[in-house]
Amino acid sequence: MYRRALVRIPDGVSSSMRKNVSPVLYFERGDGPFFFDVDGNRYIDYTLAWGPLIVGNNHPAINEAVSRQLARGYTFGAQHGLEIALAERMTSVLPGVEQVLFCNTGSEAVQGALRLARARTKRDKIVKFEGHYHGWMNNVLVSYKPSPDQLGTPSPTCGGQPQHEYADTLVAPWNDLQALEDLFRENPGEIACVLTEPLLANSGCCMPEEGYLQGIIDLCRAHGAVSVFDEVITGFRVALGGARAFFGVLPDLSVYAKAMAGGFTMAAIGGSAEMFDVLRNRETMHAGTYNGSPVNLAAALATLGILGAEGVYDRMHAYGDTLKQHLADEARRNGILLAASGPGPVFSLHFGLEQAPRNYTGTLSLDKALYEKFRVAMLQEGILLLPDGRWYIGATHTPETLELTMEAAGKAMKQLIS
Ligand code: PLP
Repeated sequence: MYRRALVRIPDGVSSSMRKNVSPVLYFERGDGPFFFDVDGNRYIDYTLAWGPLIVGNNHPAINEAVSRQLARGYTFGAQHGLEIALAERMTSVLPGVEQVLFCNTGSEAVQGALRLARARTKRDKIVKFEGHYHGWMNNVLVSYKPSPDQLGTPSPTCGGQPQHEYADTLVAPWNDLQALEDLFRENPGEIACVLTEPLLANSGCCMPEEGYLQGIIDLCRAHGAVSVFDEVITGFRVALGGARAFFGVLPDLSVYAKAMAGGFTMAAIGGSAEMFDVLRNRETMHAGTYNGSPVNLAAALATLGILGAEGVYDRMHAYGDTLKQHLADEARRNGILLAASGPGPVFSLHFGLEQAPRNYTGTLSLDKALYEKFRVAMLQEGILLLPDGRWYIGATHTPETLELTMEAAGKAMKQLIS
């Protein structure tokens, strides 16, 4: 299948993130926390399709909501009740979010938030942090995985990124308030917003240090800039209220995607009503043919319904924490250096590190080759992992999948030292 794909699809994949993940697998179906490949092998899935499948595949409540909507219409390009229902549901669970705007992907939602911030402040410059991913657009795909000699300078990630398209993107190391303060001092009255993942999920699930997120928000307020939290990964994952609830912080804007619609294409920008005044005043615009498409909204409402049940987040956190501890213990028993970071529902393993990194720079000394060996050994045991060390836990993982995973990890670790 891969050979056939290579003929008609460049690299045979639909996203560069999926390139070079070997062996190349083709999947036939997913069910709950399991994926089945075309050869009939079953895998316990910890990729969650890079995050969206927080309630697994083939969930009866999502299937029912989507099927019901399919019979009523695929898309309207116009207003309908599900928009109001989802906006009301989101604003009831996301602290400080009074209004939401719908769109389709995380990349798009980030751009929408940047535009709102720029229109509001009438400034052009934006700040992002090294190692953070905010989608594939030219203005934010900057210093995503910089090499050591690129640290400290805004650097493109791939070809086709003209310098003028990221000329207004400033970059700082994360978890370093002084560095951000310096940027504000060096660019007085010019910074529209600061964009951050609330926990650095895209580079090792680094956790924010005490007071750091609030520090970003305070610095933005002090300098008339907008704080934008990219909750594409943390949203509806670390808590139903996302990072706002989990860390107890209220940024000006937050961006949601992935988990919010349980695998359907859906994203949103949320914030205080005031943040959207620039739309009401016609100072800017937001558009998209598929924005608010009812099938996706039906999936999102069903997903949030499932996630809102008693104990769902406690179980995901406990599952992830138990797994992290077990993996650390197994590594120690086998004399392998391994640190883990991040909360239960999304965490990263760091082979070759004694302590969790505090930002992107700390991940540069990871033993990536050892993780790759571990990932392939786990695959042979029927456990599907992402290539970058990140593990996603979903609401449909069970004590049985936990047991099987721990057993598999024991065997995989032994292979690493043999
Ligand atoms: N922001 C973050 C934090 C992400 O992790 C991603 C994707 O992984 C994006 C934005 C882009 O989202 P999408 O792939 O839906 O465009």
